[in-house]
Amino acid sequence: MNGKLYLVATPIGNLEDITLRAIKILKEVDYIAAEDTRHTLKLLNHLEISKPLISYYKEIEKEKSDILLHKLREGKNIALVSDAGTPGISDPGEIMVRKAIENQIEIIPIPGACACISALVGSGLSTKEFSFIGFLPTNQNEKKEKLEELKEETRTLIFYEAPHKLKNTIEKMEQVLGNRECTLARELTKIHEEFIRGTLATVLQKDEELKGEFVILVKGAEKTKKEIENEKIAERTLEEQYHYYQQQGFEKKEIIKLIAKNQKVSKNEIYQYFLKVKI
Ligand code: SAM
Repeated sequence: MNGKLYLVATPIGNLEDITLRAIKILKEVDYIAAEDTRHTLKLLNHLEISKPLISYYKEIEKEKSDILLHKLREGKNIALVSDAGTPGISDPGEIMVRKAIENQIEIIPIPGACACISALVGSGLSTKEFSFIGFLPTNQNEKKEKLEELKEETRTLIFYEAPHKLKNTIEKMEQVLGNRECTLARELTKIHEEFIRGTLATVLQKDEELKGEFVILVKGAEKTKKEIENEKIAERTLEEQYHYYQQQGFEKKEIIKLIAKNQKVSKNEIYQYFLKVKI
């Protein structure tokens, strides 16, 4: 019988942020596949767990996933962990999960810490809908292009960033997205945990250099491109709107519905109007 693949979330700073179930699984599995074995060893020592570790980092994910797959097929249970937080979230894991699915291996995620979720819930920005972007490209042009792509996204945007790139990234964000409301979630779960709230122009106006790990959260766009377009159309006369939609290939019934929506009145009112007015 095949073994099981557990995706175990580990702390993102505070070592107490590990679930009882995660500890139980780490104790029970045959192997632990770890992004950085030295880093994971510290956690295991803290938890008094001794287990064979297999190194599993991004650059060797493809080759190592075959080795892990072989072990899973032999019936061995494996826990996959990253350096911090949830594996697969801006961390290795995705390739292994896909391979396991293709080979009918059971996958069991063990939930726990994830920096983007803690940052989001404490940010003060909308939690109803959000878009997790993770790391932006390092190349400046690609970074700008990616931000351009996100300009009309109305959901809260969540980014990860390395501390030494923080300033440049926030400046680029302001240039492309405009001076939006934003939150920097710094050193989550650690002694210097801090939420810096403001706008893209103000969050970096601290005297001292900001150190540590950061999640950047940016308020989504106020309106989508379509909404802005519709508003512009709604400013035209009813006759102009009618012709505009006609040119777009809409039938009379649909045009009346669209104009009624633009004007925020009933379809019947628009229908009656066009009975009296020649178009
Ligand atoms: N898998 C992890 C997770 O579940 O959140 C993310 C790993 S990713 C390689 C590392 C990035 O996550 C950091 O550069 C930072 O943006 C964010 N991060 C991780 N721990 C954090 C913390 N304690 N406080 C703020 N941001 C953190």
